[in-house]
Amino acid sequence: MYTGNPARILFGCGSRARLAEEIGRLGRSHALVLSTPFQKTDAEALVASLGPMAAGVFAGATMHTPREVTEGALSAYNDHGADCVVSLGGGSTIGLGKAIARRNGADHIVVATTYAGSEVTNILGETENGIKTTVRGPDILPETVIYDPELTLSLPVAMSVTSGLNAMAHAVEALYAQDRNPITTMIALEAIQALRDALPAIVATPDNIEARSRALYGSWLCGSVLGMAGMALHHKLCHTIGGSFDMPHAETHAVLLPHTTAYTERGAADLLKPVADLFAGPSAGVGLYDFAVSLGAPLSLASLGFAEADIERAAELATLNPYYNPQPIELEGIRTLIRRAWVGTRPA
Ligand code: NAD
Repeated sequence: MYTGNPARILFGCGSRARLAEEIGRLGRSHALVLSTPFQKTDAEALVASLGPMAAGVFAGATMHTPREVTEGALSAYNDHGADCVVSLGGGSTIGLGKAIARRNGADHIVVATTYAGSEVTNILGETENGIKTTVRGPDILPETVIYDPELTLSLPVAMSVTSGLNAMAHAVEALYAQDRNPITTMIALEAIQALRDALPAIVATPDNIEARSRALYGSWLCGSVLGMAGMALHHKLCHTIGGSFDMPHAETHAVLLPHTTAYTERGAADLLKPVADLFAGPSAGVGLYDFAVSLGAPLSLASLGFAEADIERAAELATLNPYYNPQPIELEGIRTLIRRAWVGTRPA
């Protein structure tokens, strides 16, 4: 079975200049522009460029889409008489745009500035009283996405690396997803190859616009397969470790990816062989680890502030509810995986 997620994509340097035209194309005329506090100045510049098509800025987006922030943004939406939302930013801002659209049916245009991939998925994670719940639905998928590689030039190298590896994790898991199909596999491999080529070039020359374009292209494809295929061990473990131990999102993905891949590879060596080949590694897990080393990515959970004393609880939480993975999930193996990731050892 194959179900594509319908979205209109504008890709290319300078494509942000077409935002007003895209708002009009949806039959809207008054956009509330969303951003994090960090990107407020960029959001204000976007509002200025939109002129009368902008209703105002709400610059309160934050990690994990807390419900109280969404309530505040909905009030701003109504107070400004907005008729659509524009998210300028990464997964945190896009999450807020999705939460608004889900509640009031607003059209949602994303101007993506990281590689996380949320802009092309129908998935929304929200938190209330510290508990994160994830929902899927067609009303969550943004109508239009603008990918302007020039907007990613300001993404620091370290964030570009971890955000790119976060994206790559979507594609790696899509390769062994239970509901994978030849289309998702084709897109996933193209995505991994694009990021494999682009990230080292960005590390070497951060303002290399061709590399920035290729990374954004790869992250679009990674987000696409995240929205089309079910995820397994890697995403569940990142969700547990990120959510229950308040760990940074992209960095946690970056550290865990080689280890979750090495674990799963024992049950899906044939499906992950193309990844081993792409990274010229003896295995996919080792190839991904060596790639992370070459990029200067964070390698250990310890370096991200994860306490050794929490390894046991994390392993227990991660194995509490059984779920699909090509290599069955069992406590001893997951404990060993987390310990290796905590130290940052090269997968065996
Ligand atoms: P983010 O959106 O939290 O951004 C991190 C910081 O980088 C913010 O301060 C942001 O303003 C800043 N930033 C963004 N783009 C920048 C740029 N070009 N230049 C300089 N600074 C920039 O980070 P993220 O990794 O994109 O998103 C993480 C969140 O997204 C998590 O909560 C995660 O759960 C969610 N997510 C959701 C999905 C989904 O499908 N629902 C997919 C991926 C991630």
